Amino acid sequence: MYHHVKKLMYTVRVDDPDPRFGNMLLEQFGGANGELAAAMQYSIQGLNCDDPARKDMLMDIGTEELSHLEIVGTLARMHLKPMKTDRTAAEADPLVAIAGGGGATLCNSMGNPWTADYLKITGELDVDLRSNIAAEARAKIVYERLINFCDDTGTKDALQFLMTREITHMKAFLLALESLGKPALSVGLIPPTPGLVDQYFNDSTGESDEGDTDATGPWNEGNGWERVDAPAFQELRPLEVNGNGHGTRKSRPKMERKAKTRK
Ligand code: MN
Ligand code: MN
Repeated sequence: MYHHVKKLMYTVRVDDPDPRFGNMLLEQFGGANGELAAAMQYSIQGLNCDDPARKDMLMDIGTEELSHLEIVGTLARMHLKPMKTDRTAAEADPLVAIAGGGGATLCNSMGNPWTADYLKITGELDVDLRSNIAAEARAKIVYERLINFCDDTGTKDALQFLMTREITHMKAFLLALESLGKPALSVGLIPPTPGLVDQYFNDSTGESDEGDTDATGPWNEGNGWERVDAPAFQELRPLEVNGNGHGTRKSRPKMERKAKTRK
């Protein structure tokens, strides 16, 4: 059950209301990476979760996000309020001023209404936790940008608190995922196709001034990778149907690739 405690999770102080900044803040109220999206995503994932321990965590963090929503809404309201009576302030966001009377609204900073389409809920715990780790990273960077565009000390304090909590949640989700003990590439039950799964498709050829600029790194080299150059120009059949078990898609040495791609 939910219970409203009549104080904010973090005390909010705005010394100098800025309607334009209030509009930016709405991104974290009703935007894709905002607090309502976070609260709903984790809470609904929690409702669907059969693992009691991780369900508890999802509901805890989902509930905290509701408290963040309350903080952001309070902050936004303080910044937007002058729009109700001041024409110049109203021009910062006519929708909020005219339709909403200078109140926080469940829209993003561009006035697009919040939508459940923002939510990533798959019913597969490890997949959901990965979504949540990414969601926290996005929320963190949005708060950082808001802080960078903020002139008001009190507002900055509250945003620093909210930003910090996103890293805290990221840590909790990361450790919850790790504690499931699943290998990093194990998703669901059906195994990926052997061979195919280890092929890195080099889908580009560099012919600019810098020539062949194909980059290499652990994402396409070593680690069991088979590099397949320009697969669009080769037969894209799985290795097994090639008869002899190794087709025409082996990596060529770099110089040979270069000669081939240059005319
Ligand atoms: Mn939050
Ligand atoms: Mn969070």
